[in-house]
Amino acid sequence: MSTPTPLLDVRNIAVEYGGGWRTAAARAVDDVSLTVGHGEIVGLVGESGSGKSSIGRAVLGLTSPAQGTIHLDGQDVTHQRAGERRDPSTGIQVVFQDPYASLNPARTIGRTLGEPLEVHGKFSATEARTRIEELLTRVGLPTDAIDRYPSAFSGGQRQRIAIARAISTEPKLVICDEPTSALDVVTQARMLDLLTGLSRERGTAMLFIAHNLAVVAAAAQRVVVLYRGRVMESGTTQDVLHRPLHPYTQALIASSPVADPLRQRKRRAARKQAGPMAGSEGAGSASQGCPFAPRCPHATPTCRTQRPDATVIAGRTIACHLFTADDPTPEGAAA
Ligand code: SF4
Repeated sequence: MSTPTPLLDVRNIAVEYGGGWRTAAARAVDDVSLTVGHGEIVGLVGESGSGKSSIGRAVLGLTSPAQGTIHLDGQDVTHQRAGERRDPSTGIQVVFQDPYASLNPARTIGRTLGEPLEVHGKFSATEARTRIEELLTRVGLPTDAIDRYPSAFSGGQRQRIAIARAISTEPKLVICDEPTSALDVVTQARMLDLLTGLSRERGTAMLFIAHNLAVVAAAAQRVVVLYRGRVMESGTTQDVLHRPLHPYTQALIASSPVADPLRQRKRRAARKQAGPMAGSEGAGSASQGCPFAPRCPHATPTCRTQRPDATVIAGRTIACHLFTADDPTPEGAAA
């Protein structure tokens, strides 16, 4: 049986910033591959500086990859500009982190939501107003919001408006770049319900970028874990976040706070064993060997000189010398 073509297929991309005739470019993303299926939510996790937002920008066409390809629904969009990629027929939209910066304060909500519909060109003025009212209702806002300005709304309500704008033209894929991180915990939970509900109802796929593992665990069916611009581990959310194998994924989970004090104590102990987490160094500073080697309790001399290949083991992909297809659960590495 043939595997269905994914909606988004990112192959071996690298993203670089800066660089000139006297300075080398800094590589923020190095040889990353990932896919998002039709209607699927895939989480992209990692610390600040891991390259997750750079991947989102590359998929949106806001930055051009230095190598690799990006296919959307079978079409090569690697060198398409952002405007073309967000064209309704191409079907890609975005929800950014900051609900205050992402809405134009001088435009009514009706104008903000009406603009993508105008570009779409399928709606008369009356139809567009009806559609905007439907969208507002769907994201849990009153229809009279249509004539008000962003300043009349809270952060959570503004993010609902941003989501309404993103889904207004029925995109196939929405890039959610830290969509809940500026919100309080209660609003975060409501926003996650809204996004996952919309994905289910409309079959909208999402690339869900977040540093908060609990948020990704609640939203995504699959997870890709990044460290310094490279994929460390990927697989189902259940496998990766509940039974992590890669030492970096284990350290990342151990460093994320939990409400239960006993579990928090266990995590602190695991964190001590794994060593401090890295800061915001880019991928370019670790071109040889495993980027996690300086912090990894299992590191060997090989780890410092040879880059581990991505290996598929029982449905998940791991880039670590501890794991080979023949020896998937070495002693001391499994959680
Ligand atoms: Fe640790 Fe080596 Fe695996 Fe990197 S390749 S995570 S250093 S054991």
